[in-house]
Parts: sequence; C-alpha cells; structure tokens
Amino acid sequence: MSEQISHHIPEALIAAYAAGSLSKAYSLVVATHVSMCDTCRASLMAHEAAGGAVLESVAEEPLSGDLRKNLMDRLDDPIEYEADTNTPDGIYPGPVASALRSKSVKWKKLGGGVRQCIIDMDREGSARLLHIPAGKPVPEHSHGGLELTLVLQGGFSDDTGHFDVGDVEVADGDLEHVPTADPGVDCICLAATDAPLRFSAFVPRILQPFFAI
Ligand SMILES: [Zn+2]
Repeated sequence: MSEQISHHIPEALIAAYAAGSLSKAYSLVVATHVSMCDTCRASLMAHEAAGGAVLESVAEEPLSGDLRKNLMDRLDDPIEYEADTNTPDGIYPGPVASALRSKSVKWKKLGGGVRQCIIDMDREGSARLLHIPAGKPVPEHSHGGLELTLVLQGGFSDDTGHFDVGDVEVADGDLEHVPTADPGVDCICLAATDAPLRFSAFVPRILQPFFAI
C-alpha cells in the first residue's frame, strides 16, 4: 500500500496532530492516512518522540500549578482518532471504521450522482465520506478554508494531479477544482474541511444549510 502513495500529509499537519492541536475532522484524515502510510507513520512517531522529550524537560522545571495541570491534563487526553489501534472494516481503515462505529453509512444525494455521508461535524469543521460515481465529476466548488481529501476506493484527478487509494489532496481556499473520478470503480473519499464548502454549480447556495455542507 505505502509504496503506491504519492501524495502525503504535509509535515506541519503531522506535527499539529502529534501535538493534539488539530480539529477532530482533520485528525480523522491524518489518523486514517497514517494507518495506510508507512512514511507518514514514521514521521508521526518522530514528532511524538520529540514532543515527549520536550514535555519531559518542561515537567522537570518549576511551573505554576495551573500550567503544570494544563500540560498534564493535555497528556492525559487521548487523541480523538488513533492511527492504528482499530480494525479496518471493508474499504474503511481503522480510524474511519471507529468513527462510524455506532452508525451505518447513510448516503445522502448531493447532485450529479455524488453522495455524501457526514461522519462528524462541529464548530471547527466537518468530516464526511464522498461517493463519486466512476467517471463522474464532483460539482465545482471552492473552500472557505483547507480541505483534506483522502482516497479510500478508486481514484480521482483534477488540475493538480491524480490521486489513488491512500493519497491525500490538500486544497486551500483559492482552489476552484473539479475532481473527476477515474473510470471503472466508483470513488469513495474521506474529506475534512474547517469551513463549509461552497458549491458554485449544482447546488444553489441557499440550499447549503439543508445539505449541511
Ligand atoms: Zn503518507
């Protein structure tokens, strides 16, 4: 699996994940990619080791009670989504299977044959599964913030390149793109945003609250 992956999680996001400072939605994408990718798993372990060393040296210094308590509370907080402690379920790697645990995948139509299943949504952002029929485009959209898209089945292409199973696309707010699924197999992706997607064609903006996108 790992040797086929050519689009990885940016180093800064791995560092933020290791520090426990990523939103739930982004954490799910990072944890899922790491569970599929030896390169990023090694990088995460290096960050966690380095972070642990820094915290250990901090813990030996005199600290105010509050600061020490905050640090130690943080250490006790489990990361929302662990990278490799859960069992995959079909095409869904462990972290996704774990996030879906209490729910079956309920697809909702988005238009153009594209369907989505929202896994998680809070004020910081949302994580969803996208199901794109083979050979079809996702409605043109841009982003208010960063969008991470991880391929779980099939593949897709857009102006920036081609993405296979395990690959992550990082799209910022300036990118208007039309990802198109490869022919042959329907494409299923895990996508996380920190702001609502803005669809410019298929879905009138006024309907966005209805679709929760
Ligand atoms: Zn990777």
